[in-house]
Amino acid sequence: QLAVERLSKSFGPTRVLDEVSFSVAPGRFLVLLGPSGSGKTTLLRCLAGIERSDGGTVSFGTRVLADGRSHLAPDRRDLAMVFQDYALWPHMTAAGNTSYALRRRRLSRAESDRRVQEVLARVGLADHADRYPHQLSGGQQQRVALARALVAEPGLLLFDEPLSNLDADLRERLRVQISTLTRDSGATAVYITHDQSEAFALADEVGVLENGRLVQLGTPESVYHRPATPFVARFTGLAG
Ligand code: ATP
Repeated sequence: QLAVERLSKSFGPTRVLDEVSFSVAPGRFLVLLGPSGSGKTTLLRCLAGIERSDGGTVSFGTRVLADGRSHLAPDRRDLAMVFQDYALWPHMTAAGNTSYALRRRRLSRAESDRRVQEVLARVGLADHADRYPHQLSGGQQQRVALARALVAEPGLLLFDEPLSNLDADLRERLRVQISTLTRDSGATAVYITHDQSEAFALADEVGVLENGRLVQLGTPESVYHRPATPFVARFTGLAG
């Protein structure tokens, strides 16, 4: 399981994460919901190892990813991240971007190519393998990013508002695809969004962040029907 204990982070005098603790059972899909500035991105970046926390512990399975003494580099954490702005290499094709995630695996060229083709087919881009990012739509670029995240079969998938740059119709379709492919992969997922309906549609569990604190964590039903604080009630009530 993913276990986060008393994770804290400040930027200067501003406390962005305030002793956040939660755990996610293997293969479960957690959505962290909160308004702009509540600390979602910072939390995800601490899980990924892109950001160092000031205190607290992150572990995944039997491995400690970060604690007061040690900090494992992002590429040693058995995780992949999907970003809001896709973050593809512009000079690499869809296949090149995807195979980049396999660069540290000692795979033969043929095996690497086979895996890349297979995962591009899974996201519906078998015919676009040789296209560069600027030759792809936003939705297609995000599907390449999804393929890149899935190809190395990481134990943990992190999503940073992956749908917020896409129009409503595409958002809906890609949301279903992310849900299906993530669950099929068996990975544990942490997904952040400020969109209540997206959170409730995707989550096994929903966590609500307010000013760097996790104020509620539970099933979508329990958070929606039994909000723990007036803030949660107001914020999640917008979904209905
Ligand atoms: P959004 O939905 O707008 O992305 P968020 O919930 O993801 O918001 P964060 O991006 O984690 O929130 O930011 C939380 C707070 O930390 C904000 O007040 C932000 O201004 C501040 N912050 C984030 N990164 C830095 C930084 N590198 N230096 C200083 N302050 C930062």
